[in-house]
Amino acid sequence: MHKVISDTTLLAHAGIDPEAHHGFVNPAVYRGSTVAFPSVDAMAQGTQRYRYGRWGNPTSDALCEALNTLESAEGTVLCPSGLAACTTAILAVCGSGDHLLVPDSVYGPVRHFCDTAGRRMGIETTYYDPLVGEGIADLIKPHTKAVFTESPGSHTFEIQDIPAIAAAAHARNALVLMDNSWATPLFLKPLALGVDISIMAATKYIVGHSDAMLGTIACGQRAWDKVRDMHFQLGQFVGPDDVALALRGLRTLDVRLARHQDNALAVARWLETQPDVARVLYPALPSHPGHDLWSRDFRGATGLLSFVTRAAPPEAVAAMIDGLDLFRIGYSWGGFESLVMTIDPRSLRSATTWEEPGQLVRLHIGLEKPDDLIADLSRGFARLNRAKEGT
Ligand SMILES: *Cc1c(COP(=O)(O)O)cnc(C)c1O
Repeated sequence: MHKVISDTTLLAHAGIDPEAHHGFVNPAVYRGSTVAFPSVDAMAQGTQRYRYGRWGNPTSDALCEALNTLESAEGTVLCPSGLAACTTAILAVCGSGDHLLVPDSVYGPVRHFCDTAGRRMGIETTYYDPLVGEGIADLIKPHTKAVFTESPGSHTFEIQDIPAIAAAAHARNALVLMDNSWATPLFLKPLALGVDISIMAATKYIVGHSDAMLGTIACGQRAWDKVRDMHFQLGQFVGPDDVALALRGLRTLDVRLARHQDNALAVARWLETQPDVARVLYPALPSHPGHDLWSRDFRGATGLLSFVTRAAPPEAVAAMIDGLDLFRIGYSWGGFESLVMTIDPRSLRSATTWEEPGQLVRLHIGLEKPDDLIADLSRGFARLNRAKEGT
């Protein structure tokens, strides 16, 4: 596509090729394993555009092409989940005897992979303080192959200095991976900040409706061959129905994220005024310790945030949450609906400590009217106080 004016416009056009689909603006949902060849010679040549289901089809190509444009990537592959995208990307760049740096705030299942399967394969992982910045240089060893990043952390919302980390890593020939599920390429462009491998749990905001799971890995030039090859070897494949749901989600990403942002800001600002709240963890708030870095590198904030309660018994916090009408209790985020869960970061740390005396509560702010969400939370705090007084 030429002369792209903005991402907003791009979302309505990227990966769309009506001429290739009898005029339909969306590609068909290509279900298929076998692709027929016209001759023995054509099969032997290996130049036919589509040759076997696992190697891609016009539906998956439309999504990969759209993401290549949005991420300014050399190439993108699709994985059946966000976690599969993280682990595939790690395996693409690390093997036996290699060293990997991972932020202490990383998504828990990635830590679990590094500590179990990764370790069994001979990959040595060191966890680092996500706020390390250019200090990452001191942690890079001769056999360090990659620095994993995730910003903000999806529970505790540390903002990482990605350009500083990328400069230090590249100076020592290590590649930089980033889990960009929170911001999406609409609000942060990892490859433009020096990241080599931009990973998303597209399950979250790209699909956007909590009805499919999918992971994406968009690569810069240095990493593309490695990632494409590992993805191919592992036999990663995403069914075309899920790809079509992701394509549909992508078209409205801009309008949805704008609403998530407005709603989340309204809720976050209100939470800051609440006597039962010790701290609100949302990078768009000026009170957030990563706010300056966030302002420098991000174009927006999405709907996921946390807050820490003032010291309260767990039963009181549970009473607050259990009675909420509009926030469902559940994992994941990125859909239209508001969600809540409690987390204890202490169980997920090894390089840093989590000292907050209160309880960490994570909210996903959905597309509801923020006043309704605030009223629901307000009734929740009243329950919390009644439970506190009762004990
Ligand atoms: C949810 C999540 C993942 C994993 O995505 P799935 O599709 O659930 O496997 C990875 N990283 C982050 C930050 C997430 O929140």
